[in-house]
Amino acid sequence: MHYTGLVNRYRSRLPFAPEVRAVTLNEGNTPLIELVNIPKRAGFEGRILVKFEGLNPTGSFKDRGMTAAVTQAVHEGSKAIICASTGNTSAAAAAYAARAGITAFVLIPDGKIALGKLAQAVVHGAVVVQIQGNFDDGMRLVKEVAQTTPVAIVNSINPYRLQGQKTAAFEIIEALGRAPDYHCLPVGNAGNISAYWMGYKEATGQRATASMGGYSLEAFSNNLPKMAGYQAAGAAPFLRGGRVANPETVATAIRIGDPQSWDHAWAAQKESGGWFDECTDAEILATQRLLAEQEGVWCEPASATSLCGALRDIKSGKIVQGATVVCTLTGNGLKDPDIVIQAGLKGLVQVAAERGAVEQAIVSQLR
Ligand SMILES: *Cc1c(COP(=O)(O)O)cnc(C)c1O
Repeated sequence: MHYTGLVNRYRSRLPFAPEVRAVTLNEGNTPLIELVNIPKRAGFEGRILVKFEGLNPTGSFKDRGMTAAVTQAVHEGSKAIICASTGNTSAAAAAYAARAGITAFVLIPDGKIALGKLAQAVVHGAVVVQIQGNFDDGMRLVKEVAQTTPVAIVNSINPYRLQGQKTAAFEIIEALGRAPDYHCLPVGNAGNISAYWMGYKEATGQRATASMGGYSLEAFSNNLPKMAGYQAAGAAPFLRGGRVANPETVATAIRIGDPQSWDHAWAAQKESGGWFDECTDAEILATQRLLAEQEGVWCEPASATSLCGALRDIKSGKIVQGATVVCTLTGNGLKDPDIVIQAGLKGLVQVAAERGAVEQAIVSQLR
């Protein structure tokens, strides 16, 4: 059957009546890719699989939440949506607003946004408001402005966002025949870890703290994973026990000091028996490279945080041998090529346009 997006696919498990028309770009249904080289190198006898959310229509998992939030906004008659964003939410809001024929207003920080993401907001015709502040300032301003203007907030404080995002957990259970033993995620605003936990719990017939009422909780999984949330060391409020005033990290998608889903994320950690930890920028970038070079999967820096933390916890034994581990790769590496190019064009060989020179370049590099 033709796949028409996650609202239609999982409607019975979402708060949408049959007559509500989905605003969709056929998001979701992303591949769960088993790593073949990295686990071997790490001496790990279990399985590591990556849920590659970078293959969503706008290149990040934000499309899952956005199809649900915009579907509901249009259903309620909204003519405009608004969000604060480190980049990917604005890209998704812009695309889904274009699809729905409504206006998207996006507040982005000045600087520290990957160029590809800014280009996406522009090309889809969003009104881009660049503020002299960071994501947390943008989030505060969006909440204030939405009180006085007729715009629907589509940040993850909008409960429909988490509803859409929880479907990734359903897809993983369907692919594996069960939930994994560990689920590893990058944590920024903490909506996604909350949404996955909601999805996993609902798949066992239980309601999570972030759930809404009025849809099916029929069980189709017997087990629950431990949820491991990894933050960038310079933007790690879950490790510091509270708000971080000036978050800094190369992983701009998780450069957030005041997570909006604070309580839900703590509930996910505690209820699942999981944990939070942090990774340095250098570790994050090294893992991004490792994944690209060893497995052929290019995710953005923030996304690599999940695998970065998982590999460290495999090494320490915190993640036990033989386990099945799923890491969410939240966004596509193509959004931020600068980060790779800045590190130097390793493998670039410049030679004369002559057969001998090209042969020499090849022979010297054969392995
Ligand atoms: C939004 C985003 C995150 C963080 O997700 P939260 O739900 O805010 O924790 C991580 N990686 C990428 C690529 C993102 O776009």
